[in-house]
Amino acid sequence: MSRKEVVKINDISKPVKRLVQLKLEDLMPLPPPYDKSGSEPPLTTPKPEWEETYVTELDGYIAIDLPWKPKTKEEEERLIQKFLEGLKKLTSRESNWTFLQPLLLSLEYCAKCQNCAEACPIYIASGRKDIYRPTYRAEVLRRIYNKYIAKKPGGDIELNIFTLMRLAELAYRCTLCRRCVQVCPLGIDNGLIAREIRKLFSQELGIAPKNLHEKGTVQHLKVGSSTGMTPKALLKMVKYIEDFIYEKTGKRIKIPVDQKGADILLIHNAGEFLSWPENVAAFAIIFEEAGLSWTLSSEPLGYDVVNYGAWYDDVQLARIALKHIEIARKLEVKKIVVGECGHATKALVVVADRILTDENRIPRESALPLLRDIVMSNKLNLDPSKNNFPVTLHDPCNIVRLSGIVEPQREILRKIAPMFREMVPHGVYNYCCGGGSGFAIMQSLNFPEWRNKVASRMKFKQILEAFKDVLDPKIPKYVCAPCSNCKGAIRDVLAHYRATELYNIHYGGLVELIVNAMVDLKEPYLDFLKEKKS
Ligand code: SF4
Ligand code: SF4
Repeated sequence: MSRKEVVKINDISKPVKRLVQLKLEDLMPLPPPYDKSGSEPPLTTPKPEWEETYVTELDGYIAIDLPWKPKTKEEEERLIQKFLEGLKKLTSRESNWTFLQPLLLSLEYCAKCQNCAEACPIYIASGRKDIYRPTYRAEVLRRIYNKYIAKKPGGDIELNIFTLMRLAELAYRCTLCRRCVQVCPLGIDNGLIAREIRKLFSQELGIAPKNLHEKGTVQHLKVGSSTGMTPKALLKMVKYIEDFIYEKTGKRIKIPVDQKGADILLIHNAGEFLSWPENVAAFAIIFEEAGLSWTLSSEPLGYDVVNYGAWYDDVQLARIALKHIEIARKLEVKKIVVGECGHATKALVVVADRILTDENRIPRESALPLLRDIVMSNKLNLDPSKNNFPVTLHDPCNIVRLSGIVEPQREILRKIAPMFREMVPHGVYNYCCGGGSGFAIMQSLNFPEWRNKVASRMKFKQILEAFKDVLDPKIPKYVCAPCSNCKGAIRDVLAHYRATELYNIHYGGLVELIVNAMVDLKEPYLDFLKEKKS
């Protein structure tokens, strides 16, 4: 391990090519069998041509894949000026009606005890690099605010172009998991500070990662889904899923679409249709078997519950949430149920409360408690021995820590998965998958490397430890992750370390496991069990 280099808050303004250079030997060690040197792919350096166009001055990684690096002194000045105007708005009642109070309180106080740092998976996994401390970016913003806006003591910082560029990238070195908030004696929300910095850059300077904005919320509002899936494509997909269900179960299920007056409008993260259609199919099988009155929607936005605005922009957040509500009202359903998607649960079930007026307060809930009720009421004929392989549970931060839905998924697993074992730690103390706050879908340039190596490192460690007694590749293992984005991050980290190929570790949602336990099914629902059998 190399000697620890201390990076002070003021160093953020230093006119150097790179503030921090990550080294593999500095990162948090992984447990066996990844504890030997050479057992993980090396780190790469950014291509020289990227350095001209993108901001690589923080740690060499690029989250904001826009060519926004200023080329002239005038451009630099203009960016700094706009940033300060944005910060003024961010800290004023008129412009930041959504999160002003928690932001100001979080900027006001900090005991500098560093409890939060020890709770942060990014900081720990990085080998305790100062720039990844939850307090680092918060303190930079606090000092800029004190010096340039509030004009009070505590503003020892220089706001130059290096400060600005690095702060923008630094806002994307936090998954907004809010694990740090939980241990802070003052309740300071460093995750919120990171998110509000993103908001400032997006709303005031038009700077945000393309996958969140241009190909995310903008495409979502224009086409109907952030995946680019049109209503016509959705209907085709529904047909495909009906055939898929028939193939898997021998049952013809008609998936209800646009059924006015149904009790439930079920909205999935549309990524499920494209990447994990078996998840959508499993919901349909369970809901039909349980005799629920439910429907999907084929209206633009009505079939994609994601709301990437939750990660970086209030305007986009509000537009999408209001559209979801409008569709539910038009269908005259009794409630909206969000499929297995954490950030959508945060956006629609929790945060949307801040923008919905009384007539729009239609009930909204996560699917997990409903699934729990179905399974525990014995409406499904289940045989747990069909799930007789080691299963561990990932806790999506936005469902568990943020929304307080901790037990329903566990009750289900205790009933249907005899070899269920918890991760350490788990529940509200579990670690983020590393894909939170948009990281799972940010796939350009070298950002996925940072995600796999740093952001998802703690999760990978937990997975290996949960299965340490059954790592034998002959034993199939399942990481249950009831969230689309978490599945994306876990898929990528397992692939990065070839853990499926070498150690037979698989991942998937909760509903797939429930359907796999159904007595009626002749063949396993989970494909990896089938492959093993043949
Ligand atoms: S735990 Fe809270 S008070 Fe302590 S350093 Fe972190 S943010 Fe500041
Ligand atoms: S929200 Fe999560 S990733 Fe961000 S600083 Fe806090 S603990 Fe670290």
